[in-house]
Amino acid sequence: MRSVTRCVQRAFKFRFYPTPEQADLLNRTFGCVRKVYNLALEARTTAWHQRQERVNYNATSAMLTGWKKTEELAFLNEVSCVPLQQALRHLQGAFTAFFDKRAGYPRFKSKHKSRASAEFTQSAFRWTDGRLTLAKMTEPLKIIWSRPLPDGQAPSTVTVSRDAAGRWWVSLLCQDTITPLPATGHAMGIDAGLHHLVTLSSGEKATNPRHECADRDRLARAQRELARKDKGSANRAKARLKVARIHARIADRRRDTLHKLSTRLVRENQTLVIEDLSVRNMVKNRSLARAISDAGWRELRNMLEYKADWYGRELVVVDRWFPSSKTCSACGAVAKRMPLNVRLWTCPCGAVHDRDVNAARNILAAGLAVTACGAGVRPQRDSSRTGRSAVKQEHPRATKGIPAPRDGEDANVRSRSFQCRVFAKSHATLGHRYANAPPDPLPCFS
Ligand SMILES: [Zn+2]
Repeated sequence: MRSVTRCVQRAFKFRFYPTPEQADLLNRTFGCVRKVYNLALEARTTAWHQRQERVNYNATSAMLTGWKKTEELAFLNEVSCVPLQQALRHLQGAFTAFFDKRAGYPRFKSKHKSRASAEFTQSAFRWTDGRLTLAKMTEPLKIIWSRPLPDGQAPSTVTVSRDAAGRWWVSLLCQDTITPLPATGHAMGIDAGLHHLVTLSSGEKATNPRHECADRDRLARAQRELARKDKGSANRAKARLKVARIHARIADRRRDTLHKLSTRLVRENQTLVIEDLSVRNMVKNRSLARAISDAGWRELRNMLEYKADWYGRELVVVDRWFPSSKTCSACGAVAKRMPLNVRLWTCPCGAVHDRDVNAARNILAAGLAVTACGAGVRPQRDSSRTGRSAVKQEHPRATKGIPAPRDGEDANVRSRSFQCRVFAKSHATLGHRYANAPPDPLPCFS
């Protein structure tokens, strides 16, 4: 199952520099896309509130034809009709997500706050010899090919966007073949933290890039300048662009760091164990720094999820049902209290722990206990804070879980699942040893 190469849909994003005419046409297209989306949303909302009618995609598509014929919306005819149709499809998707209770009610798009973008399907662009020409344009886009597209592949969908910093992007959706990486025996626990972006169970710490501090000062200065400018003035627009550029710089660097980190982790390890941070946020949600690190953490987790899936690795997500910071990773004893300012502590058993490394080791141990016996591990505790399983797994193989031992079942399986329960219990009750889990010795526990 793992060593087979497979095809995935993959978006390749490039920067491009439009000519003034192209920029003008695209800016108008963005405006029309937003207008159509908002009109259709309004039509669907009023139809429901006034007449309890459900308006579907086909009905909004018919409305669009009508709008184009009116005098005040005649400008919709000046741009390609495909992005407008796609906007209606996106709205349909937003409503489907709402009805499935995956998202809130769709909201109106704003000129200043929403992402300016337009989606072109195959009928609305021409792809010849690696040159991309959009509908209603005469020359191809001047794209900076920062990386090659997969061999012989033509894009099936093209999305053009302009970010807050005024940069233009084109995203090309292509078929790509992914070859899983050769298997390794390494496993790694990853702890997200305040002081470091992540701490690994091997003892390594990944800091946020240091130059972010300098950018923080620049950002503060630019924001102060922006606040002093008169509303609606040209200088205010310039100052806003400056702030947006600094934000973009910080975000770009963070994404770059996260990509490098996640690729390295996936390449070097077969099993990666991370914490479900949303649970952790519920536990102590009080500092802004946490929220910032959370943003990076969520992004890193998404990257780890898809890269682990692509390259045949296993990602285990552990709920925080045991105190990873307070537990000694050597003997399993749980300290009574562990304030955030304690970076180094000594367990009564003699082990000296770095707070974050110790937590990462505990996360790894919890994850390995799960992979050893399936997702059947449940916290053996009397508190009823959460009613769900202690550990959920992202890997399809592991989500099956292990059913309770039945008559005639292999005794070995039973004993392994027993060990895991003992392990879970030892973490929930104070001062017990690990029993036989985690499997010992481990390469990263030296
Ligand atoms: Zn100890």
